[in-house]
Amino acid sequence: MTAPRPTPALRPHEHEIHYADLTIPAPGELTELQAGSHSRGGVWWLRMPLPFALDHINLWLVEDEVEGRRGFTAIDTGVSTPETMAHWQTIRGSYFKGLPILRVICTHMHPDHMGLAYWLCGDECEAPLWMTLGEYTTGRMFASRCLADEDLAQPDGPAATMAEHFRRHGMHSPDDYQKVLNRKGHFSSLVPRVPMRYRRLMPEEAFEMGGETWRVIPGYGHSPEHASLYCQASNLLISGDMLLPRISTNMSVWAHEPDADPLGQYLASIERFSPLPENTLVLPSHGRPFGGPEMTGAKGGIHTRLRQLRAHHEERLAEALEACKAPKTCAQVLPVLFPRELDFHQFTFAMGETIAHMNRLWHAGRVSRVQHEGAYRFEAV
Ligand SMILES: [Zn+2]
Repeated sequence: MTAPRPTPALRPHEHEIHYADLTIPAPGELTELQAGSHSRGGVWWLRMPLPFALDHINLWLVEDEVEGRRGFTAIDTGVSTPETMAHWQTIRGSYFKGLPILRVICTHMHPDHMGLAYWLCGDECEAPLWMTLGEYTTGRMFASRCLADEDLAQPDGPAATMAEHFRRHGMHSPDDYQKVLNRKGHFSSLVPRVPMRYRRLMPEEAFEMGGETWRVIPGYGHSPEHASLYCQASNLLISGDMLLPRISTNMSVWAHEPDADPLGQYLASIERFSPLPENTLVLPSHGRPFGGPEMTGAKGGIHTRLRQLRAHHEERLAEALEACKAPKTCAQVLPVLFPRELDFHQFTFAMGETIAHMNRLWHAGRVSRVQHEGAYRFEAV
């Protein structure tokens, strides 16, 4: 039995957000979000621990019936560790009443969302994996043995490409360069395998789950082709990582797509949530569910959060632009956007995010990009 974690103190922006009055489930336990009925399946919230600074992920279970079989649809999986598997076993033993997992839907390919898909789907994919094409193929690519072999066999393998990418953006310390090289195999350690076949989810596709119709709302910028799931009848949005109440979603530029504009893609994508009602109960992958039918007038839900996110990124872009009145590399802009102590893992994400902000300004024509002594320097125009 794990002691429940204390709820962290609210950040200033969270005072505007209405959190649903729900018990945070301890690992191995479930919190009911929607009761099942003869025609509609129940929906549950579960949590798994993560071995990162971000220490948990929320997962969802829907009581379901597929092709005449009763069981559950799992939405996202947790990372592939013995600890996560043990919590899943506890949940199966305590709550499943012998019923199977019928299918696994992964919102996207990041290790905390897809790491255990191979295990939950089963060796013969008894429970099929549902994902978008962009997420499935990218997940297969990153988890593949070939990629790990490329790292071992080639001096310019993926880890070296990443180190070069950061060096081009002003990371000069040979120590840091070596640390990036040492991160070889990080993804495949958390996602050892990906099922060999899948069922493709299309953007805007409607499908049945738990006796209700759900719709795929595609999202870009955080990952290649993220799927959020919306059920109008139940007023539920499984937002994945596209809409989080406490932290802003990570948008990073990585080595394999160095000129990408993920922040631009993200800001365009979240407008797809604008038509949803303010009292939608939002089920995010990290943090607590927010909005929902019990919301009072004083605090907000999905539209409040969308407004906060637009304002947040506008401010950060303004700060980055201000910093580039004199030419700067991303490594020089990083402390402006991240003025706190960072461990190395956080530093790599901060670099990725800083490049994302500079690429947004560059794509928008607000800064120029010039090569200077082997690194890109950005300057406000
Ligand atoms: Zn993610």
